Amino acid sequence: MTSSPSSSREAERGSRRASPVGHAAMRSANLSLLLRHLHSRGGRSRATLSQETGLSKASVTSLVQDLVERGLVQEGQVERRGTVGRPGTEVRIDPLHVAGIGLELNVDYLAVCLRDLAGEVRFTSSIPMPYVADGEPADGEPARTADGCSARVADGRSYPPGLVLDRVAELLDESLAVAAEAGLWVAGITIAPPGPIDYDGASVRLASNLGWADVPLGEELAARLGPEHPPLALENDAKLSALAEAPRLARRGITDLVYLTGDMGVGAGIIAEGRLIRGWSGFSGEVGHIGLDPAGERCRCGRRGCWETMVGFDTVLAVLEKDDPARSGRLPMLERLARIRELLEADDPRLHDRFTALVEDLVRGVGVLVDVLNPQAIVLGGYFGHFADLLVAPVQTALDERLLAADGRVEVSGSVLGLEAAAAGGAAVALERVLEDPLLAPAVTPGA
Ligand SMILES: [Zn+2]
Repeated sequence: MTSSPSSSREAERGSRRASPVGHAAMRSANLSLLLRHLHSRGGRSRATLSQETGLSKASVTSLVQDLVERGLVQEGQVERRGTVGRPGTEVRIDPLHVAGIGLELNVDYLAVCLRDLAGEVRFTSSIPMPYVADGEPADGEPARTADGCSARVADGRSYPPGLVLDRVAELLDESLAVAAEAGLWVAGITIAPPGPIDYDGASVRLASNLGWADVPLGEELAARLGPEHPPLALENDAKLSALAEAPRLARRGITDLVYLTGDMGVGAGIIAEGRLIRGWSGFSGEVGHIGLDPAGERCRCGRRGCWETMVGFDTVLAVLEKDDPARSGRLPMLERLARIRELLEADDPRLHDRFTALVEDLVRGVGVLVDVLNPQAIVLGGYFGHFADLLVAPVQTALDERLLAADGRVEVSGSVLGLEAAAAGGAAVALERVLEDPLLAPAVTPGA
C-alpha cells in the first residue's frame, strides 16, 4: 500500500476518526449508490453516471470495476443517447450472476419466484396448498398436534405447519437448483406468510386462516434447507405485493397506494409517500378484520362481521355446488378461477348475485380505507385482480359517487402481477440486500 507523505500525515492526525472501517463503509456506500442508480434508471455511460451521482469519473471507473468483478454490472453496448463525439460504453445491471427468491404461503397455494438482478423472472412455480382433511392422516403426522396448529379451518381442513413447511422447502430447493444450474448466486429468500410477523423472531404471529399462531417459520425452514442456504427473511404477503406493484405506479407519479389481497382473507399493503407502512408492531393492513356488520357472520378471528366474511374468496365458493371442482383445494388456483369464470360466462345466477353483492361490500371496506388513508390508487390483487374486468369499473364508479372532494379521487385497478405478486415482491426484497451492500456478492470468475 502506498500513500503520499501528506496523506499519511493526514491519516495519522485523523486516525481516531478515519479508521479503515470508515473507508470501507464509504466505498460500500458509493458502490450501493451506483448500483441502485443503474438498477432504477437503467444502463448509461460512466460519464453520465459521474454527472448524475456527483462521483468523480475516476471513482466511477474504479467502483464500476469492482461491481463488474462481483457480477453485479456489465459493460459493453454503446450508450444509445447522444450523437456527437465518441460513443460511451454503457454500464448496466448484469442479469447473469445474482438473484433473489420470494415465496408466498397462501391459504390456497404456494408460489415461488426466482428473479435475477435485472428483474427478469428466471423461474416460477405454484402448487395447491397442502392440507389435511378431517379424519385423514398426514403421512403419519397427526393433524391436530403439529406445532402451533390445532384449529380446524374452512371445510374441515387443517394445515399442519410440518406438512406445509416440507412442501415450502421442496419449492425452495427446486428454485435454488435452478439458480445453481444457471450460475446465479442467491442473495436471499423472502417468505410471505398470510399474517402479521414477528420480525425479530422470524415467526408468524397469527395466521388465522391457516389456524397458525406463533409458528417459528424462519427456524423451521432453516433446519429443512440445511446449513448452506441463503439468508431467510419474512414479510407479510400484502406488504410484498404492494412493493411489487409500486414501481409500475411510481412511474406514473403515484406514491400513495393500497394493495388489497383477495384470498380467503383480505389484507392491505399500504405505501404512503413512496414508503411501506408497517405500523408500530408490523400489524398494519389487517383490514380484513375491520368490523363492518355487528350482526354479521362469525369470522375465523373470533369477531363478528369482519370485512373478509363479506368479500373473502370463500364467499364465492359458498354459492357453488358442494361438489363443484372449484371448491377443491387440491386443484391449482388458476384452474379453480377458470372454473368460476366459466360458470359466470354461463350466467350462473347465484354467482352473478354474489359478484353484485361483492362490489357493494368491496366499496364499503375500500371506502373506509380511502377515508382513512387518502391513497391515490387502490390495486385489487388475488381473486379480485383475476376478476378485475368485472370489479374495477363498478367499484370505481361507486367510489367516485361517494367522493368528499374532487381532488380526493382514487384510481382503482387490478394487479398486473396476478397470483405471483407477493412472490415477485419477495424476490425483489431479497435483492435489496445486495443493492444495499454490493460487497455481499462474491467475486465471479472472468468469463463465468
Ligand atoms: Zn375477523
